[in-house]
Amino acid sequence: MSSLVENIQVEPRKGPKYLFFDVEVTRIVDATPTVKLFDLRVPGRDSYRFQAGQFVQIDFPIDAKVTRRSYSIASAPDGGNSFQLCVGRVPDGLATRYLFEDVKVGSILKGSDALGRFVLPDVVEKETCFISTGVGIAPFRSMLLDGYARGIIKAPVSLFFGNRHESDILYRDDFEHMRRQFGLHFFPVLSRQHDWHGPQGHVHVHYTKFFADKRPCTFYLCGWRAMLDDARAHLTEMGYDRKDVKIELYD
Ligand SMILES: Cc1cc2nc3c(=O)[nH]c(=O)nc-3n(C[C@H](O)[C@H](O)[C@H](O)COP(=O)(O)OP(=O)(O)OC[C@H]3O[C@@H](n4cnc5c(N)ncnc54)[C@H](O)[C@@H]3O)c2cc1C
Repeated sequence: MSSLVENIQVEPRKGPKYLFFDVEVTRIVDATPTVKLFDLRVPGRDSYRFQAGQFVQIDFPIDAKVTRRSYSIASAPDGGNSFQLCVGRVPDGLATRYLFEDVKVGSILKGSDALGRFVLPDVVEKETCFISTGVGIAPFRSMLLDGYARGIIKAPVSLFFGNRHESDILYRDDFEHMRRQFGLHFFPVLSRQHDWHGPQGHVHVHYTKFFADKRPCTFYLCGWRAMLDDARAHLTEMGYDRKDVKIELYD
């Protein structure tokens, strides 16, 4: 008698198959010595549809088993066919070496449609806190620009942005503007600049203090695993539920 397991027809697991299309680099900005902003345009389309917080995949001509890398979109959707990526150079990284050394204005990359569910709700009615370091800021810039522009943010929002030095604070003017215009609680935290008059040390010290009363809040974390693991551990220890902590992991 054959077992039930033998009778089940198992579909081979398939990886996601995305359609890749030409994406043109229209501008490159050196934001810091290790971060570049890439403005991209999809020449074949009138509009490139995405939700603030989503990411795009780029398929690179690199000698690697996996040639695709994901990048959060740092700009807000505006109905046009352009968007911005904010990329940090990774030591010995294959794709970032290609982006930093070979890609010029006018270069054509292979890009995908926008992906991911790391997005804000239709209306932000609950207090919200964004926590990131370095290039992990990308989806938060998109969400905040879009959220304030569309008037969907109806609750207090704080942004804890950790960096080493003042010159590393990406998109600082945008967040300062949101602080003045919309009351964003913007905390640029610096760990290596001792003459800084703002919050110093590790980013974790500051949001744990700000939420010491453990009031209801939804947290969005984005970036590299080490920082995210620490942040999640701190929030869990404070008593926040897993469902109140949304995560976009870069590695
Ligand atoms: C959903 C998502 C969104 C992302 N968005 C962005 C973004 O907006 N901006 C951005 O710059 N990157 C982003 N990334 C990371 C990006 O996809 C690549 O992993 C990154 O650019 C490194 O690619 P690489 O080919 O240069 O390095 P690889 O050749 O793939 O990596 C070399 C080695 O370095 C390790 N590594 C990679 N990054 C780091 C790091 N920072 N510190 C220490 N070790 C590291 C890798 O695990 C690997 O072992 C995102 C990743 C995901 C999954």
